Amino acid sequence: QSKLSGRNTYSFFTKEMNAIMLRRFEIEEQLNLALQRNEFEVFYQPKFDVQNRNVIGAEALIRWRNPALGNVPPDEFIPIAEHTGLIVPIGKYVIEQALEFLREWACIHNKNYTIAVNLSPRQFRDKELINFILSALRKEEVAPENLEFEITEGVLMVGNAYVDEALEELHQLGVKLSMDDFGTGYSSLSYLRRYSFDILKIDRSFIDGITVNKEDFDLVKATIAMAHSLDLQVVAEGVETHEQLMLLDKLGCDLVQGYYFSKPIPAQALIDYRFPAS
Ligand code: C2E
Ligand code: MG
Ligand code: MG
Ligand code: MG
Repeated sequence: QSKLSGRNTYSFFTKEMNAIMLRRFEIEEQLNLALQRNEFEVFYQPKFDVQNRNVIGAEALIRWRNPALGNVPPDEFIPIAEHTGLIVPIGKYVIEQALEFLREWACIHNKNYTIAVNLSPRQFRDKELINFILSALRKEEVAPENLEFEITEGVLMVGNAYVDEALEELHQLGVKLSMDDFGTGYSSLSYLRRYSFDILKIDRSFIDGITVNKEDFDLVKATIAMAHSLDLQVVAEGVETHEQLMLLDKLGCDLVQGYYFSKPIPAQALIDYRFPAS
């Protein structure tokens, strides 16, 4: 018999489950008012050109600070917002903030930066999504090609007509589409063939291992070659060391993002930051 059977296990799991359910319930409850209470802030993590080490843009990453719960990480509350549908208004808020930020940042630095925003599956079911994006672009006078949407396989696996349609409309609009967390899902390759992606982001878990693990190195090398043969730009996410950067440079990776350069930081901090041209 395994150690996990018997009465104690039952009460252990019940307690654990209760705690998880309670936390989830609290998050759901607090999330309902978070937008109107202004508890969200969008942070930005810069992306760099591997060749010349210039900043080329940034990824928008939401932060939530709640009086009762403290800082709740997006990995915890985004799936809940996704489930309740609140991700739709929250996602619109991120798009608005990100475009407003981009306009200011690009103007102050006089650079042609791009901004990347993560899109969740549920947002594709919002019939207003495309029109909302269009009017947000017009309002901030941002060119569509300076806006990028990062999409994980989760979106594509939904596999329904409106996802296909929305992706095609986004592509027609001229915004960039990026496949996020590449390599972690099941059919990344077939999705690449089916949709019009412009950029491929290699998941952090592969970058972690490239300097120590031959398999990870070979996988990243092959992924970069494959992406380039499909005319996709390659971003490595989660670059934390100089050694990783050197290897990615050697492998011809186009863009990098990670703690080695900068963590996600508030808008003003990124505007003020002078990145060393190393
Ligand atoms: P993601 O889109 O894959 O974002 C990358 C995550 O890796 C971010 O976590 C970022 O802070 C973290 N990261 C970046 N560089 C490094 C590094 O060098 N080392 C390590 N250990 N981590 C690094 P974050 O901000 O906690 O976001 C987690 C996930 O939550 C995101 O993964 C994305 O899926 C989701 N998310 C965040 N903001 C939004 C949003 O506005 N909308 C939607 N739909 N999802 C979001
Ligand atoms: Mg992302
Ligand atoms: Mg990612
Ligand atoms: Mg991720």
